[in-house]
Amino acid sequence: MPRTGKINCSVSFVVSWETQPLRYYGAYVRNFIVSQLAMMPIKPILSILSPQAERARLSILIFHRVLSQPDPLFPGGVDVRQFDEMLQWVKRWCNVLPLDEATARLKAGTLPARAAAITFDDGYADNHDNALPILQRHGLSATFFIATGYLDGGRMFNDTVVEAVRNTTAEQVDLQEFDLRPPSGASHWPLGSAAARAEVIGAILASIKYVEPAQRLGLADAIAARFGAELPTDLMMSSAQVRSMRRAGMQIGAHTHTHPILARLDKQSVRDEILLGKNRLEALLDEPVTMFAYPNGRPSKDYVAESVEAVRELGFSAAVTTAVGAADQASDPYQLPRFTPWDRRRTGFGLRLAANLVGKRPVRL
Ligand SMILES: [Zn+2]
Repeated sequence: MPRTGKINCSVSFVVSWETQPLRYYGAYVRNFIVSQLAMMPIKPILSILSPQAERARLSILIFHRVLSQPDPLFPGGVDVRQFDEMLQWVKRWCNVLPLDEATARLKAGTLPARAAAITFDDGYADNHDNALPILQRHGLSATFFIATGYLDGGRMFNDTVVEAVRNTTAEQVDLQEFDLRPPSGASHWPLGSAAARAEVIGAILASIKYVEPAQRLGLADAIAARFGAELPTDLMMSSAQVRSMRRAGMQIGAHTHTHPILARLDKQSVRDEILLGKNRLEALLDEPVTMFAYPNGRPSKDYVAESVEAVRELGFSAAVTTAVGAADQASDPYQLPRFTPWDRRRTGFGLRLAANLVGKRPVRL
């Protein structure tokens, strides 16, 4: 029977208790579970799943950008506040080592429990401007894999597309000459909201991702021109910034010169790309570069056995992929799996890090 009229607070509580018991209990149980999960001790779980010495597992975290502030086009991107928070958790839970030391100790069977390494791919300038000071504040080291072809003012094809869409003042765009129509079947793509802009970015990138690298850059430029926007020239690091990262104690690794899909290149081009990236970095830093990350990094799709062979022959001591999992002593040092931190909350982050250690998932081509 509905109750109406003015009631005091305690009566109001009784009313909701009597009339909505399931919802009341549901909220209570949910809040209880959330509060318990928030206190869940992650470190003991990781200690069990990631012991020391011969049975050790190595979690290699992968980042790309660390944004100054949240990006409405990519709400899942990592910003400075989130990166700082993640590093606090990782520092509390794990023993973070430089990647070269971690891979050598993995092989030697001398890794500490809960071993982890932090890596960045591509060479974005925000790695220097935003990530470096946070890493330094936490006293942590990371390895930065840099595609040398974009240093000093360059831009990868995907960023050309992203920045063209981000910076345009147009309200809609016609991309039919590139065989791109919105799912609605309309002739023009709407650009009125962040979601609409993210949708057109996704469609463009999906259509050109696996085009031959030489054509892809030109195609990205041609598509970007349709948006009539100014494009930034400071997205990637400068040579001076790379040197400054190294001087600050960070490691620099190779990531090819132009970031091609190695699986799509002939044998000679694979070697040329890998070697050019390595040589450029070695000239810049005046020291050997021994770590490598495969562009895009998925076994079979982005790199193949021939690519692994080239990396080994060209004098690297270890290489990382984007296959998921944690490395152990049986892992191929030239195909180490990594962990992408998706979660932005402590418990989700910790449990996913733990789940990444469960079971053996050897990287297979
Ligand atoms: Zn990359």
